[in-house]
Amino acid sequence: MPCLGLGVYKASEGGEVEEAIKYALKIGYRLFDTAAIYFNETGVGKAINHSAVARNEIFVTTKLWNDRHGFNETLKAFNESINKLNMDYVDLYLIHWPVGGKIVETWKAFEKLFNEGRTLSIGVSNFLEHHLNDLIDSAEIMPAVNQIEFHPYLQQKSLVNYCKNKGIVVEAWSPLARGRVFCDPTIEDLAKKYGKTPAQIILRWAYQLGVVIIPKSVHQNRIKENATIFDFKIEYDDMKKIESLDKGEEGRFGAHPDNF
Ligand code: NAD
Repeated sequence: MPCLGLGVYKASEGGEVEEAIKYALKIGYRLFDTAAIYFNETGVGKAINHSAVARNEIFVTTKLWNDRHGFNETLKAFNESINKLNMDYVDLYLIHWPVGGKIVETWKAFEKLFNEGRTLSIGVSNFLEHHLNDLIDSAEIMPAVNQIEFHPYLQQKSLVNYCKNKGIVVEAWSPLARGRVFCDPTIEDLAKKYGKTPAQIILRWAYQLGVVIIPKSVHQNRIKENATIFDFKIEYDDMKKIESLDKGEEGRFGAHPDNF
């Protein structure tokens, strides 16, 4: 799994998402994160299928929306996604949120899709430790990934450690907190010190922690900026400064997984 990808939440179906992916592929992005609920799987598929980059070098993630849980419904929803993407398989299929009370049946369908090679890996999103414990109790296959809200203001250290100990990759959604952290004085100071932008400081910090990042943009300059983070290293003391920005639950701006 690449350590950096392009998120496409709110990238419009059609030209906007296609152009963003086309450009991202050109400059080296190989992971694309969509979801049924983003309503842009057709454009994501078009851009990838028409690209000169081989399909097996590209990592495509999509997600099951909340109203499609249950064994048969999950299989149907997966078929709809794969038809829109116009692909034989995806690289990662995620349960978008731990809702609905049918996670066990849903996960059975995920395992079937994995065993049939229709998705090369299966995982979850927005799962807290108790959701993961419940899932793992009845699972035959462990989730490969947990995609969670993660940025300097919401670091979820206990959950991240739990995932690391179980060999579950942590993937950060809204790694830039949708811009909320850019004006933080600590981030601004570090941006000056390293000659980088606040976005690059934040993304590099997450990368150094071993968290997969999928910042979203449809603008070429930002898509490029967000990928130019492999030519510098944040020193240990500065990593600690960013760690100290954690606001715990107060830093969460998305929905809480228990109340979604
Ligand atoms: P993000 O933190 O990636 O922020 C995106 C916004 O930040 C953009 O709309 C743009 O306005 C701005 N931005 C991006 N790069 C910038 C730059 N270099 N300089 C200045 N501004 C910049 O937020 P996101 O889109 O919410 O999250 C990223 C991806 O994570 C999504 O696109 C989606 O794929 C995924 N996601 C998943 C879930 C989930 O529940 N699993 C929830 C939200 C997002």
